[in-house]
Amino acid sequence: MTTSYIGRFAPSPSGPLHFGSLIAAVGSYLRARAQGGQWLVRIEDIDPPREVAGASDRILRTLEAHGLHWDGELMYQSHRSARYDEILEQLSQEALCYPCSCTRKRVQSLGGVYDGHCRLHGPESDQVALRLHNSAAVSRFDDALLGPIVTDVYFAEEDFILKRRDGLYAYQLAVVVDDHDQGITEVVRGNDLLEATVRQLTLFSQLGWQAPTYLHLPLAVWTDGHKLSKQNHAPALDDSQPTANLLLALRFLGQPIEPDWAELSPEAVLSAAVQQFELTRIPRERHLLAPF
Ligand SMILES: [Zn+2]
Repeated sequence: MTTSYIGRFAPSPSGPLHFGSLIAAVGSYLRARAQGGQWLVRIEDIDPPREVAGASDRILRTLEAHGLHWDGELMYQSHRSARYDEILEQLSQEALCYPCSCTRKRVQSLGGVYDGHCRLHGPESDQVALRLHNSAAVSRFDDALLGPIVTDVYFAEEDFILKRRDGLYAYQLAVVVDDHDQGITEVVRGNDLLEATVRQLTLFSQLGWQAPTYLHLPLAVWTDGHKLSKQNHAPALDDSQPTANLLLALRFLGQPIEPDWAELSPEAVLSAAVQQFELTRIPRERHLLAPF
């Protein structure tokens, strides 16, 4: 089967992969392969202060140990500054982006949503962030798993940040430019990013680009309700037991598993899982996990 489907997995190197990130990796991989599509990997290393030395290489080794082999070249966001600047320059020439000197404290005093002050009055200092002049707000979209998603219009219409005061590119900008440039047709990721999706759709619209579809997977959370994350000490995946890890991830994603799969290589497990993959079996609710 030939198809133009292109999916991706885009970890940030702030630590090793944990079970929550494996779900996003496996979910996006199955969805792409079940349609005969490509599966790309992008390292989202645009936030150096949050990075852990060696984490990128360790993430890639973990993916390979789990049989999650990607197509094409790896993309590193840290190599893409010139491209992000080009887009910011284009937006600026179209008066769709402007400097803002407002502090986080001021935005918090407004209730957390920026009011467009510097678009109307100009910045008050040289220390500026760049914000989108948001004239294409998207507040709803159809998720491929969850159906219609609607967010607050006030939030959707905010002039959000594209480049931070400290010179770092905003996640929303980098991810949209990269998804566009890599020809991603569908983004499959955890449902903690629903609000980010609304931002990204706005930016796609503002740039006049065709947006991908989005599919948000259930999130692995601890029994206390917190998301599994590097910040709350989700344990690193054990690369010495990839098949067991994959079977746990498949179970979490509601996919059927045969008893003899425990004896298979990770590649063979994934290949069998691709054959049997059914989107509608993925649960829409969050799953709870006891801390392991
Ligand atoms: Zn401002």
